Amino acid sequence: MEIYKNIRVLVLNQTYEPLHFCNAKRAIVMLLKGRAEKIESDGMVVRSPTVTIKIPSVIRLMRYIKRSYHGRIAFSKRNVFRRDDFTCQYCGSREGTLTIDHVIPRSHGGESCWENMVVACQRCNLKKGDQTLKEASMRLLRRPTKPSFLFHKNIYRSMPESFVKNWNKYLPDDVTHRMDKGGLQL
Ligand SMILES: [Zn+2]
Repeated sequence: MEIYKNIRVLVLNQTYEPLHFCNAKRAIVMLLKGRAEKIESDGMVVRSPTVTIKIPSVIRLMRYIKRSYHGRIAFSKRNVFRRDDFTCQYCGSREGTLTIDHVIPRSHGGESCWENMVVACQRCNLKKGDQTLKEASMRLLRRPTKPSFLFHKNIYRSMPESFVKNWNKYLPDDVTHRMDKGGLQL
């Protein structure tokens, strides 16, 4: 039954908002106790000599959980790196030293927040310098926003595609979009 621990199940709030991943054992306990319901499964089962247990890929909590207590994502430089998947948001490079850039420079009143900070390679950061995007004639690959969900990309890589497809139905577009390109990191 070791396999249990390695299988990840997406847990949705009662409102279908994704909360986090748990392992299959915990998911099954929650189902058996009536604390969650099965939303998706891909037919994966775990067999012991006496029982066969169907593994869900997505479960939904029967009671609403306030997000403020659960999985809130703190704003930090480290999490900006994770959100941007350690990729320069100007040129897409993942090479060399990566820095954090203020899209609107601090000298122009730019704040340190999710919406104004992106990962930039040293070259792009130097090129942009103390200029706005317009002044530097540079563009962002995508608009920086506060991430609603961050997790280790290995979760995605270690699970079968059928599981991932089920998860993607419930994850925000910005997450699934980044997953297609190799995933988020945590
Ligand atoms: Zn760059």
